[in-house]
Amino acid sequence: MVATTERDEMTWYECEECGLLFENETDAEQHESGCDAEDPSYLQ
Ligand SMILES: [Zn+2]
Repeated sequence: MVATTERDEMTWYECEECGLLFENETDAEQHESGCDAEDPSYLQ
């Protein structure tokens, strides 16, 4: 799910899967829905 973080008096939306930051929540959600890091089960 998308996390919010405040920086420079702005709210940023962070992909919890890979850590990318977005200026708006819609972009973050769209990214995260197709994020390659969404299923980390193969990493271990
Ligand atoms: Zn991501």
